[in-house]
Amino acid sequence: MVIKDILSENRKFVKEEGSLLSANPAKGLCIITCMDSRLTGFLEEALGIGRGDAKIIRNAGNIVDDGAVRSAAVAIYALGVREIIIVGHTDCGMTRLERDRIVSEMRKLGVDEDVIENFSLSTLNPIVDEEENVIEGIRRLRSSPLIPESVKVHGLIIDIATGELKPLHIDE
Ligand SMILES: [Zn+2]
Repeated sequence: MVIKDILSENRKFVKEEGSLLSANPAKGLCIITCMDSRLTGFLEEALGIGRGDAKIIRNAGNIVDDGAVRSAAVAIYALGVREIIIVGHTDCGMTRLERDRIVSEMRKLGVDEDVIENFSLSTLNPIVDEEENVIEGIRRLRSSPLIPESVKVHGLIIDIATGELKPLHIDE
């Protein structure tokens, strides 16, 4: 199990004397992006973001759902965030989500039918287009009463292979 490797690696990692950064992001920035493992250790570098710089909210397909809005609100009202960037990416797995395969896997692993039905209706909606999905995310943030007008909301797409950013919407 990977957990054993992690605990072993951690013993080597732990510093003699840790530095305590502020929990408020130094750049006043919150990023909403995808959970794609190819973005890990890549997205930050591509954006020039270091440890302590930004709050990062990640989920499958960088969807601006209730959970993302709630975290963004905490970032704004408790942690001084004044700018949000939704970062979608090319080749997002959520564009080829196979509802039937996921549902059959859930059945195989013993999930109740009514739970499956609820989950598949509310969650298993594939993204048609990565760029349109980012724009939709901006719309949802902008229409949320929790996100004030004064907070800037931008949208980008990152090329998952090269790291190149394509601006979709810059909130001037
Ligand atoms: Zn993705």
